[in-house]
Amino acid sequence: MTDRRRFLAASVAALASGAMSGNASAASAAGLGKKRPRIVSTWDFGVAANQAAWQILAKGGSVLDAVEAGARVPEADPKNHSVGRAGYPDRDGRLTLDASIMDGNGDCGAVAALEHIAHPISVARRVMEKTPHVLLVGDGALQFAVEQGFPKEELLAPESEQAWHEWLKKSEYKPSANSENKTYGTQAQPAGKPGGANNHDTLGLLAVDAQGRLAGACTTSGMAWKLHGRVGDSPIIGAGLYVDNEVGAATSTGVGEEVIRTAGSFLVVELMRQGHSPQEACRYAVQRIVRKRMKTAKDLQVGFLALSRSGEIGAYAIQKGFSYAVCDARKQDALYQSASSL
Ligand code: ASP
Repeated sequence: MTDRRRFLAASVAALASGAMSGNASAASAAGLGKKRPRIVSTWDFGVAANQAAWQILAKGGSVLDAVEAGARVPEADPKNHSVGRAGYPDRDGRLTLDASIMDGNGDCGAVAALEHIAHPISVARRVMEKTPHVLLVGDGALQFAVEQGFPKEELLAPESEQAWHEWLKKSEYKPSANSENKTYGTQAQPAGKPGGANNHDTLGLLAVDAQGRLAGACTTSGMAWKLHGRVGDSPIIGAGLYVDNEVGAATSTGVGEEVIRTAGSFLVVELMRQGHSPQEACRYAVQRIVRKRMKTAKDLQVGFLALSRSGEIGAYAIQKGFSYAVCDARKQDALYQSASSL
């Protein structure tokens, strides 16, 4: 079944159950039934990532192993132009990858602006487990990855290189909202238009096991055509990802600068700590960005996804079109549209 059809099937099923009437109810549709273990992740490509993570979680494996395995799926996908090896490069034609991983005890690791390594999420995990640091960047991250035995590769995929050459003709930098929905997994790439509008999006994946232990992973090639050296929210703990076993976890996608400005994922988890549901917490975080930033950036997109330690889900975005995938014992390939503030 195509991702588009799967989404429609999930939506129709949820509508039939009466659960998706109204903006805020998609998350409650996803919250029906047994809530732990459960995995949730951003965008259509989250479906395949969740399934890989589920293989581990369903057997009682570690939640950290599960989120890493999930993140490696879009990183390896030659059709995914916003995560991993087939990601779009920066304006100098260099593919630089950002990733972070965190568990509910506060252990975390990240890499930013990493070149030539196909699985930044696994390097992020090594940073967490093998160094006293949290974040390695650029050449230092590459040096560490090679020392750890990761193969150094030329990663720029031909289609991504072609899209970069197309972009160079006008050299306009304009992140587009919900780019992933327009071009990835929902419809074929238009002939002669490599990459279409798909110039960013992140895989943020959160998981809780049967005992309530949480972990999260976040991985992206960031904004296509960004300045060389630009780092987004995804490898910044508290911005693109935050996890706390006492409360829950959150991750984000969209224009990373706005998420960094609000320490977005940390904000969502702290709102949950104060007693807000994951859905309310995501909505408040989105509304804070809308209040402060939308006057200057009308078509800005940011989406938050949250998972409580009891397995309850929240998802909210500024604009319509942010999809998220949910996987649990009941259903492994559900896909929903988040509520939005516009
Ligand atoms: N948040 C990512 C970044 O700014 C991109 C995205 O998720 O759309 O790098």
